[in-house]
This record gives sequence, C-alpha cells and structure tokens, in this order.
Amino acid sequence: MSLSAWQQPLFARTVAAFRSHRLGHAQLLQGEAHLGKLALAQALAKRLLCQQAGDAEAACGVCTACQRFEQGSHGDFRQIGIELNEKTGKLKTVIGVDQIRDMLEWLALTAQLAGPRVVIIETAHRLNPHAANALLKTLEEPMPGRYLFLVTDQPKALPATVRSRCQRIEMACPDTATALAWLKQNRVPEADAKALLDMAGGNPGLALSWAGSGGSALYQEVRADLAACVKNQTGPAAIARKWLADESTDLRLLFAAQIGYGLARTWAAQAAGGAKRPQAVERLKEWIDGINRLRLSLSQPLRHDLGLAGRMLEWRQLLQDFR
Ligand SMILES: [Zn+2]
Repeated sequence: MSLSAWQQPLFARTVAAFRSHRLGHAQLLQGEAHLGKLALAQALAKRLLCQQAGDAEAACGVCTACQRFEQGSHGDFRQIGIELNEKTGKLKTVIGVDQIRDMLEWLALTAQLAGPRVVIIETAHRLNPHAANALLKTLEEPMPGRYLFLVTDQPKALPATVRSRCQRIEMACPDTATALAWLKQNRVPEADAKALLDMAGGNPGLALSWAGSGGSALYQEVRADLAACVKNQTGPAAIARKWLADESTDLRLLFAAQIGYGLARTWAAQAAGGAKRPQAVERLKEWIDGINRLRLSLSQPLRHDLGLAGRMLEWRQLLQDFR
C-alpha cells in the first residue's frame, strides 16, 4: 500500500525522528476522520519493526519482521481499540482499563525479535477515565524501545494529561489540487470530484467515501429534484417523501444545503448587477439555515415531512422570484 501525498511527509518526518533517536515513547496522531491516520500509524509501526531498513526511509518489505507484520502475526505489534461485547454481540462504547492493563503487561515483556515493540491505540478518545489513568503511568515513565501511537479524530476528548505527554503528529487536509489528483487516482469521475470535495470541506477521504457509497449519483439526484421543484414538475410534498424514505436523508440535506451555498456565492458575486440580489442572498441563507436545522433534528423522533415540504415550497418560491 502506498502512502498519499499528505501522509508521506508525516511518515518521513517521524521515521527521521526515529532514526536520530528523537522519537518519543508516545505519539498522538490526530486529524479529521477518513484521512488515513490509521494506515499511516500502521506504516510507521512496520517501519519501526523492520530489521533491515537501516538508514532507509521505507521498511524493506522482505525481512522476517516485515513478512510477519504483513501477515498480521508479528509478536511485537499490537493494535487495540473498541472491542466486541461477547455477551450482546454489539461493539462496546469505550476502551476499558483491562485492555490497557493487558497491553502494558505485554509491552514490558522482552521483544520476540529483539527489536522494539509497537502498539497502536485506535479511537484513543474512547479510553474511559480508568484506562486513560492506567495509560498515563507508562507515559510518565516511558520504556525504552517501546512505542505507542494514539490515533484519534477527537483529541480534545482525551485528558490533557495524556495529550501533554505525547508528541504530536497532525494530519491536515491537503490542498485542492492534491486532493483532486488523489480522487482521480481513486477513480472518482472528474465531473463529480470537485463537487464532492467541496461538500466534504476539502477532505478527500470523506469525498471518496461518499463517491463509493453512491454519493455522486445521490448528489445529481438532489440537484435534479431541486430543479424539478422550481419548474413545478415535482411537488414539494413528493420530494419531501422521497428524501425521507431511506437512510440517505442526512446526506441529501447536506447536499441540498451545499447546492444552496454554491448558488448564494454565485448570487453574491452578481450582487452589483441587480438591486434585488442582496435580498435574494439573504433569503437563500435563511433557507440554508432551515435545511441545516432540519438535518440536526433528524435524530429526534419527530415528523419531518411537513417541515421539509415547507422548505421545498420556499425553494420554489425563491428561485421563481429571483432566478
Ligand atoms: Zn523489513
């Protein structure tokens, strides 16, 4: 697996710190979801464990350590996170203190391959208070040759005492050109990539997950529904029923709001051209707020059809008044 253009510099920097013995006991790898933080942590773990990398940046890929890592059987590597509750068959909601105690006991044992031992803690913000406390002890008294990667998209949910004892690896969204190039590599049609990336706030991983789950088609459908509403081809109530009928309601509303933002930007740019434009932009912003409020209320057991049909009616009126 190759690293993306935004993972690679973080990989290089961390490996350089490791080679010059500056890599701390614990790394907090943080950044938005979907950017590939876990994959980066795994690539780093493999490199740290590699027996033949020497001064090279990359893991060799052929030594015993690399082979075992690839097979998921390296005795000096562990990845922990949210576990399945065997009684209920559902995922637990927190990482418990027993998991951390087990891991720390294991971490203190002699390494099987005489190299380092590496642990990845996935969704580290889910450590419960007891687990975080148990972890804190090892962060305060680091063991040589032992490396922890705490991976999280919600670093603020971790106790400040834990955060302050970690070195930080911060993964940010790449620039637009890099993100678009990456989406193209991942076979997202160019016609959709820009719109999906905008809606994902510049997060290419999130855009890709939407593209993969039919997001492009859904986006086009939302556009078409909004246009049909303005032309009186589809009624507001029919669109509301359709949008609320399956699990994609939230994403449809998000797309609708983003289409609204796009139009507001276009109208604002044209504001100088017509006296009615500023008023139109104001009304459009109110409409977007209404859509966003509706999105937030989706989790509540209310009837949403009347509210959404009302928004669709406003949309039709707005576009007929100002187009
Ligand atoms: Zn190797």
